[in-house]
Amino acid sequence: MSESLSPNLAYLKPSETVAISNETKRRRAAGEDIVDLSLGEPDFDTPRLVCEAGIQAIQKGFTRYPPNAGIAELRTAVARNLSLLSGGRALNPDQIIISNGSKQSIFNTCFALFGAKDKVLIPSPAWVSYPQIVHLCRAEPVAVPGDPEWGLKVSVKDLEAKYDKLVKGLILCSPCNPTGATYSASEIKSIAEWAHAKGVWVIADEIYRRIYYGNGPAPSFLDLPDELLERVVLIYGAAKAYAMTGWRIGAAYAPMPVVRAMAALQSQTTTGANHPAQWAAATAFGDDRVEPDVVKMVAAFRRRRDLVVSRFRAEAPGVEFVEPTGAFYFFFRVDGVTRLHDYTGSAFCERAMAAGVALVPGAAFGDDRWVRMSYAASDKDLELALDRLLNLIKVLGDS
Ligand code: PMP
Repeated sequence: MSESLSPNLAYLKPSETVAISNETKRRRAAGEDIVDLSLGEPDFDTPRLVCEAGIQAIQKGFTRYPPNAGIAELRTAVARNLSLLSGGRALNPDQIIISNGSKQSIFNTCFALFGAKDKVLIPSPAWVSYPQIVHLCRAEPVAVPGDPEWGLKVSVKDLEAKYDKLVKGLILCSPCNPTGATYSASEIKSIAEWAHAKGVWVIADEIYRRIYYGNGPAPSFLDLPDELLERVVLIYGAAKAYAMTGWRIGAAYAPMPVVRAMAALQSQTTTGANHPAQWAAATAFGDDRVEPDVVKMVAAFRRRRDLVVSRFRAEAPGVEFVEPTGAFYFFFRVDGVTRLHDYTGSAFCERAMAAGVALVPGAAFGDDRWVRMSYAASDKDLELALDRLLNLIKVLGDS
């Protein structure tokens, strides 16, 4: 069977995070007591006003084909939302293109920009889908190992070490899945200047921008002057900050020729994103009355971040982790949890599953010395999961 499939799929693997979450759901349905901290999905309901906008859109008959690049109301709402986050900078709504989730925004961007023989730098550990998407475009993903002393982030020096003339792109995620680290304004500026000088496209995945625990919104490529954005595509989306994972709405802000190419691509593939969902998202991004819901959710994520960090510090003091400043992930190192110092994330996750907690091994993100925990879960579930995990770490340490 497999030899009759296209070479387009030569590297394709199903998403590990989705696979672990499905396995957890199966076990739970069979009666096993497991707390699922594997998936990056907010545990909140979509804000009421947003749901109402979706229902009204259906009732008003916005159920026909949408424009390929998205409805004007949503493109304008995204432009305004991003502009407000970046000190009122001007953003042209024509440069916003809406897709079926930001995963598709990233795929379409890569498909529009990269092809055979191109290399794309991906700071590692990285979200599972980036290397897969680059492979689907027949380009080559090149991992750039992040610095463990620096929240596993990369510097210009690290990028330079992997650069050659075939490098056409860089995918940078901040705040970062899986580490929760956030690039500072000056780090973003240096990377943007380096990429600009090299003529390298940057795909800046800022889907977690609103989920940030510093002051104000997380630093962004949109805080940079226009000349540094000539080869930047910014990815944004409704899924995380607005608890809208199932509505499947993502956005990209890109130079006009890229937007036109992506719209043409959508005209031949999906036609465009789900029409009523676009109206719901227009309310999410554009109606200021939704803002208190976002603030409330971010406050809950911050509280949970504090809980996870303080309990790990107090009860597993030898375990190294990345200080999470954004998103809702906690990335901790497990190779030192036993005396042999060779424990893997995969082995740890198997033991954690047996102890009643679903996590994702770092192997899924490119480094199996680590494990990712999503704390987008209720406080009660999180407390229970922490009891189980910290006990497991103690048992492994004594073994
Ligand atoms: N980028 C990152 C870094 C993500 O973590 C995710 C979701 N896990 C996405 C993009 C895709 O989000 P969406 O649901 O909008 O497709």
